[in-house]
Amino acid sequence: MPDKTLLYGPEAIAARVDALAAAIRADYEGVLKPGEQILAIGVLNGAFVFMADLLRAVGDLPVEVDFIRLSSYQDRDTSMAEVVMLKNLEKEIQGRHVLVVEDIADAGLTLFWLIEHLQKRNPASLKIAVAVDKQGRRQTHVPLDYVGFTLDDGFLVGYGLDYADKYRTLPGIYEVDTKSVVTE
Ligand code: 5GP
Ligand code: MG
Repeated sequence: MPDKTLLYGPEAIAARVDALAAAIRADYEGVLKPGEQILAIGVLNGAFVFMADLLRAVGDLPVEVDFIRLSSYQDRDTSMAEVVMLKNLEKEIQGRHVLVVEDIADAGLTLFWLIEHLQKRNPASLKIAVAVDKQGRRQTHVPLDYVGFTLDDGFLVGYGLDYADKYRTLPGIYEVDTKSVVTE
């Protein structure tokens, strides 16, 4: 079991989620036409806890949900990042006000891939919410509209984030001692 240190407890997270939800409400006010709903796209698996909290906090703003599952890895031969879609969206994107909800922006490659994938399908608008913006290892610019916490680096678990499928259900966000972590 790796050692872990609490970075953000449930109260700190709830305060940030409320602030992001207030910003989202303000931004979409007057944007949705009668009968339109925001299409929130959660990136599985890590974003499920943040998505549930964020969307409940936005109150009576009309929102429908869809999910995509992505896996990213570094190609050994080209050392390029590859993103593989393990589960596709089920809803049409065209003409929709899309809000992507992701756990972490790290290198940024997963979000970069997803933004391209969605832009090709002509959404009416596209915004990105992340629980944590880890900026230290960013390789590509990704426009983040709503950011819970910003830090440089560190391997995080809890609040939906796992280490080898453990710790996802911890209510706080913890940093794991990376010396004891093996990433895939
Ligand atoms: P990126 O393409 O931005 O490097 O990859 C982001 C993805 O890697 C996130 O969606 C998340 O699934 C995973 N990831 C990045 N940093 C961490 C971390 O600190 N902890 C965990 N559990 N996953 C992470
Ligand atoms: Mg992810």
